[in-house]
Amino acid sequence: MHIGVLGAGQLGRMLALAGYPLGFRFTFVDPNPSSPAAQLAPHLIANYDDPQALEQLGKTDVVTYEFENVPEAAAVALAGRVPIYPNPVALRIAQDRLFEKTRFQRLDITTSPFVSISSEEDLESALQKLGTPCLLKTRRLGYDGKGQQRIVKSEDGGRAFEALGRVPCLLEQWITFSRELSLLCARSTSGELAFYPLVQNVHHEGILRMTLAPAPGLTEALQQLAQQYAERLLRDLDYVGVLAIEFFDVGGQLLANEFAPRVHNSGHFTIEGAVTSQFENHLRAITNFPLGDTSIRGSVAMLNLVGAMPNPVDVLVIKDAHLHDYGIEPRAGRKLGHITLVARNETERAERLAAIEPALVSCGALPRDVILNA
Ligand code: AMP
Repeated sequence: MHIGVLGAGQLGRMLALAGYPLGFRFTFVDPNPSSPAAQLAPHLIANYDDPQALEQLGKTDVVTYEFENVPEAAAVALAGRVPIYPNPVALRIAQDRLFEKTRFQRLDITTSPFVSISSEEDLESALQKLGTPCLLKTRRLGYDGKGQQRIVKSEDGGRAFEALGRVPCLLEQWITFSRELSLLCARSTSGELAFYPLVQNVHHEGILRMTLAPAPGLTEALQQLAQQYAERLLRDLDYVGVLAIEFFDVGGQLLANEFAPRVHNSGHFTIEGAVTSQFENHLRAITNFPLGDTSIRGSVAMLNLVGAMPNPVDVLVIKDAHLHDYGIEPRAGRKLGHITLVARNETERAERLAAIEPALVSCGALPRDVILNA
């Protein structure tokens, strides 16, 4: 089976690493010549809508993507030649916060109250309707907290809209949540469904820094609620592949914030921390293999390494710690790798987190207070 992948970042790299044991081969397309996946598989250095690159991908057995800002037109063009999963409709909805939140609403999946904004007049009336504080987000191309402005007083609305370049936006009510959770799930071409347990995510400056799996204190009721929401979305979109939904936990109620039509950073723990990784399950889903067991192996933590890498010895000396280095040139704010810590229970996980923290904080890969949240 030959799999074409749009995007050759670390997610693509981990897809390839999961696919080789199954005998799959890969071809990646990415304009960046030093992409992490290029070290593993043929890499066409081209824009995602480059006709020659699309022609090459059209000769593979199935195409997927690891990056949701693939131009929709490229996905549509490919869909005429080769199966592409997730389908272009899922991609189009995920690329626009208004489409995404409207879809959640239509499916009775609770979200934060929101209003679509195209002008300053829209913003003024929306601020009256929603009250402050609020968050103004660009509809497209926002990630890792970029493309957002918090509005504390209504008078600051104009300045926030200006700072975002007056592009179409969404105004959302500010939600005081107790924590952020995400659900990784998968649907295969034959309609088989699989759900991982909910995980808890800790962000710093808009970037995911730590995932705890399963989410501490996870109840069956919360898991069932998340699964019901996810199942509605997967079926409605006729979705194939792994999908991640991010939620705010507000006193046991889940508000859906966004979904990613791809493997997701909060699912990296599954490589060593679950029976079947999200990468393998994505590949199984798009090639119509049975989906693998999503159980978690005990209590797991994933720590993102941002801007700097620790000395590998300091990580590997810790029992059941696994280091992933994406082979990326270090730069401030960049995700360069991650660590998975597997433990038998939460106490042991807390001990391992405490043991690893000094090495990560001293090199600048992890801010000091992140682990306090565990
Ligand atoms: P997003 O780009 O929508 O994932 O937002 C990035 C981060 O901003 C989220 O992980 C939350 O920590 C925070 N955030 C987003 N939307 C809201 C909201 N409506 N209320 C409070 N915090 C939010």
